[in-house]
Amino acid sequence: MEKIKMTTPIVEMDGDEMTRVLWGMIKDKLILPFIDLKTEYYDLGLVNRDKTDDLVTVQSAEATLKYGVAVKCATITPNLQRMDEYKLKKLYKSPNATIRAILDGTVFRTPILCKRIKPCVATWENPITIARHAYGDVYKSVEIKTEGAGSAYLVFEGENGEIKQKVFDFEGSGILQAMHNTDKSIESFADACFNYALETSQDLWFSSKDTISKTYDGNFKRIFEERFAKYKDEFERKGITYFYTLVDDAIARVMRSKGGFIWACKNYDGDVFSDMLSTAFGSLAMMTSVLVSPKGCFEYEAAHGTVTRHYYRYLRGEETSTNPIATIFAWTGALKKRGELDGIEALAAFADKLEKSCIAVLDKGIMTKDLFLLSSGDDKNAVNTSEFIDEIQKELITQLA
Ligand code: NAP
Ligand code: MG
Repeated sequence: MEKIKMTTPIVEMDGDEMTRVLWGMIKDKLILPFIDLKTEYYDLGLVNRDKTDDLVTVQSAEATLKYGVAVKCATITPNLQRMDEYKLKKLYKSPNATIRAILDGTVFRTPILCKRIKPCVATWENPITIARHAYGDVYKSVEIKTEGAGSAYLVFEGENGEIKQKVFDFEGSGILQAMHNTDKSIESFADACFNYALETSQDLWFSSKDTISKTYDGNFKRIFEERFAKYKDEFERKGITYFYTLVDDAIARVMRSKGGFIWACKNYDGDVFSDMLSTAFGSLAMMTSVLVSPKGCFEYEAAHGTVTRHYYRYLRGEETSTNPIATIFAWTGALKKRGELDGIEALAAFADKLEKSCIAVLDKGIMTKDLFLLSSGDDKNAVNTSEFIDEIQKELITQLA
């Protein structure tokens, strides 16, 4: 069989631990035999990030701006224990945070469904995609622990004058928090959501708490409404809708829905609800993630981390049963997008078949241990990491024939 040719490289961001092991296996068995793969390779493994003073992360993000499509392996976000383990020069920022700061995007997370794993919520037939506004709010807040009595104010020193507002008169010790967001960031979040809804032909929901937070959350609601004016006609043509509701109401509706829509969330809501959704849909190992940037680029990855415990088992020469599906779907997402942008139908068709092969193997009852424990049926087998990838390869060869 002739390998599929590519014209533009995909930015390849390698990573750490067990997912780095999976990365190699996926490339060797599921990609390289079939595609004349063009990538621009960046090693975001912690060893190389330390060696390059984390410059490699910045370079990989800049390459993504240049080429438009990246695929990323999970990476370690260093903490003090990792600093010791890897003898790091310093405590680097999370690579995802560095990349996001450069691409300025929105992360969309979607679960991968298969017949044998029933979501906790019986009505969910289709995936629910969460879009998390990954800027500001409590993640960039300033906090004070106060001691004794005193008064707290919120002060804005503007170029056009000062705004000052009393927060609270404390009679005793307490706590304070100030957070911010910018119209620009919210606008770009709204644009990313409307565009992604159009791209995937799904309804878009947005929720916040504007009844309580009239100015702050009210600003989110207003900006979404204003931006929607630009997309309204196209939404109508596609037969999809934009719908705003209070976050409490959104939860109630989500639990009774059939799925198949995008739920845009503020930063904290997205953080919390995406963990809830991934668990309710089955497993974090079946959750994909794509960062969509208003600068027109896409970075695909699995939502899970580097699966450290499995890696240490692997290093000891013990058998592992690590689920590669979300990482495979990161690759297929990137290949599909590259195919679409470059007009290479064969590339997108290949990616589709690879995804179908993963699901077909699961439907047959062949799976890794994480799914074995969650899935239904007696006719199923838990296999190890490389056996599972081999099964996908076999199925893929059949699909391609
Ligand atoms: P994790 O790597 O997602 O793993 C948590 C647990 O979930 C695993 O121990 C495993 O459970 C299960 N699991 C996750 N993915 C799996 C898979 N593909 N197959 C089978 N089981 C899977 O999260 P973590 O342990 O909190 O973090 C580990 C490292 O990853 C940290 O250094 C963190 O900084 C990094 N991280 C990176 C990203 C990213 O790059 N986007 C995201 C999150 C975390 P069992 O051990 O019970 O089998
Ligand atoms: Mg979280």
